[in-house]
Amino acid sequence: MTKLIFEKNIENTDGIKLTDEKIDFNFINEKYLSKETTSIIPDISELEVMRHFKELSDKNFCIEKGFYPLGSCTMKYNPKVNEILASLEGFTDLHPKQNDEEAQGSLKLMYELQESLKVITGMDAITLQPAAGAHGELCGMMIVKKYFETIGENRKNVIIPDSAHGTNPASAAMCGFNIVEIKSNEKGFVDIEALKSVLDENTAAIMLTNPNTLGLFEENILEISELVHNAGGLLYYDGANMNAIMGHTNPKLMGFDIVHLNLHKTFATPHGGGGPGAGPVGVVEKLQDFLPVPIIKFDGNKYYREYNLKHTIGKMKAFFGNFSVLVKAYAYILLTGNKLKEVSSNAVLNANYMMHKLKDYYHLPYNTKCMHEFVLSGDWQKEQGVNTLAIAKRLMDSNFHPPTIYFPLIVHEAIMIEPTESETKQRLDDFINTMIDIAQEVKTNPESVLNHPLTTPVKKVDETLAARNPDLAYKVQK
Ligand SMILES: *Cc1c(COP(=O)(O)O)cnc(C)c1O
Repeated sequence: MTKLIFEKNIENTDGIKLTDEKIDFNFINEKYLSKETTSIIPDISELEVMRHFKELSDKNFCIEKGFYPLGSCTMKYNPKVNEILASLEGFTDLHPKQNDEEAQGSLKLMYELQESLKVITGMDAITLQPAAGAHGELCGMMIVKKYFETIGENRKNVIIPDSAHGTNPASAAMCGFNIVEIKSNEKGFVDIEALKSVLDENTAAIMLTNPNTLGLFEENILEISELVHNAGGLLYYDGANMNAIMGHTNPKLMGFDIVHLNLHKTFATPHGGGGPGAGPVGVVEKLQDFLPVPIIKFDGNKYYREYNLKHTIGKMKAFFGNFSVLVKAYAYILLTGNKLKEVSSNAVLNANYMMHKLKDYYHLPYNTKCMHEFVLSGDWQKEQGVNTLAIAKRLMDSNFHPPTIYFPLIVHEAIMIEPTESETKQRLDDFINTMIDIAQEVKTNPESVLNHPLTTPVKKVDETLAARNPDLAYKVQK
């Protein structure tokens, strides 16, 4: 087990010698000087410090280390040049309180990003403020709420399919809406009859992901949007799966009124471990005055922050949101240009290739062409005593990040695989072959599959015990 750097203390070792001169601390007011004689800073050489942190970073799995087919998360390659651009001094040394004249470059970048996202989503106005997809959903639901208040309608229900990501009902509930869940039909789509039966004058909105979390494109999306609009409701688009459709179609054409995007998924900014991310929200014209402030505008001469929106819901986040994430997404969009459409085509091609290769070995509950991801079931393997969790752990020992498992909830033993466009065919084949090997191993020697992982820093944990009796205190090793 790795020790803390404090435990690697070797007394009288010099880290780095700044000067041989004795420093006179007289210039510091007495009351600020520590009275303690022992230092908490460990004595450790510079080389050992380097080794310590490298060792820690090696424990981390990341997209640079291996294939990361985590469904719904779009773990694509994040071009390193974007990091360089985001750390340019002109961006990092700028204070958000500086006036518009001194911040023209940054404002221009945000304005052009807004414009690009308008084209990609078909929406009429964009806010870049929300810090993640879920935060975008919250922003969208606050807009829905304020919109109906403004037009004097008291609509309390938000309809959400049972395949939805858990953040959808959570965001709507936080705004005080009742969640009305509708079942998916046997093909994995919104059940039109079930939808009709819950639509009424109480319907505020429906929240949909399209392609949905099964990786399937809602074939009746136009009928759905007509039904909801005829009932006076709004359509909210969870844009987490935008990587499947960019340049081919957009949420506006499908009839949506509000959209969030996950820049950290579709537009190649790093994510995992809690952020930072960015979840811009786009709206159709009749909702644009409800966006959070400020939004960035251009008068033909200069870029400026507009605070004066008639029905604004206020602020979602300090200043502009996570600005450096915006820089990286903007750079990715410029870098990719009109090839964004190709990005989606390749993401969809990769997913269909893998699905086709794996469907004889793992149960495929919805056996139809998929979009950028697909959902297998570990049912066959479970019958032989190996559940999906064990398959996921087994994969870790082959240097693969496990796919998303047990989501969406409507698939037993779900294994949700999203390759993205950035992987080579060789890498996809490696993963496919490993999955096939595991399926064989389940048949011949199920016991051995259950022992993994063996090579990771943390081995097999007792999931129940870990949740019930979390042991969070680190005990210093002597
Ligand atoms: C990732 C995801 C979200 C939430 O987005 P965050 O950026 O993680 O907050 C919502 N819906 C779907 C379908 C997602 O995949």
